Order: sequence, then C-alpha cells, then structure tokens
Amino acid sequence: MSDCLFCKIRDGQIPARVVYRDEQCLAFEDINPQAPTHVLFIPNKHIATVNDITPEDREVVGQLFVAAAKLARERGHADNGYRVVMNTQRDAGQTVFHIHLHLLAGRSLHWPPG
Ligand code: C5P
Repeated sequence: MSDCLFCKIRDGQIPARVVYRDEQCLAFEDINPQAPTHVLFIPNKHIATVNDITPEDREVVGQLFVAAAKLARERGHADNGYRVVMNTQRDAGQTVFHIHLHLLAGRSLHWPPG
C-alpha cells in the first residue's frame, strides 16, 4: 500500500533499525520503546489489521511468532519471559494499520496491560 508507513519501512523508503529479515517478514526496533527490548515484527505482505488475516496468511502470521521467539531467545529473554502482542483497531490502540507483532521484554510487564 503506497501510503502505509510500515510498507515504506519494508521498502527502505523510511529508515528503521532492522534486526531481522526473511522472505516473509521484517523486524525492527520500535522508535518509541516501551521496554528494554521492543521490536516490531511485520509481514512483508500488507495486512491492515488482525481482522484482515485470511487462511492463506496462516504461514506468514506463524512466521512472525517464530521470528519473535528466535530473537527473544537470542537476546536472553526466553527464561525470564516476554510479551508478544498485536493491537487491533481503536480500543486496543492500534495506530499503524499494517499488522505488527510487538515483542516486549527486559523488564517486569504489568497485567492487565490497561
Ligand atoms: O500497536 P500500535 O499500532 O500502537 O503500534 C505502533 C508502533 O509503531 C508504536 O509502538 C510506535 O512507536 C511504532 N512506530 C515505529 N516507527 C515509526 C512509527 C511508529 O516504530 N516510524
């Protein structure tokens, strides 16, 4: 999508601190980190919200979790723990309409998140 911020990051038109990339997805440091580790995992395919995920997207959506778990392990968060979350629509605070899995780790996280 031409006016999508995360499509522009995917295409290198907007800079980001990319930490992981494969054929299906991309991960970069969140510009406004809420924890010592705060990385966003996005599919290369533009999918606006969780509501728009189709059965054909099963593999790519799964890959977001595979990649997030790998990075969490590499950064030493597997044992202490971490949170992966995908905000959906207004009430959840979604601000960028290209799905992204937040990986938050490195501090004690509150629950419920509020
Ligand atoms: O779940 P939500 O849509 O609110 O998350 C969007 C995230 O994208 C925010 O955490 C924000 O800091 C991040 N962001 C970013 N780089 C940008 C714009 C937003 O990492 N250029």
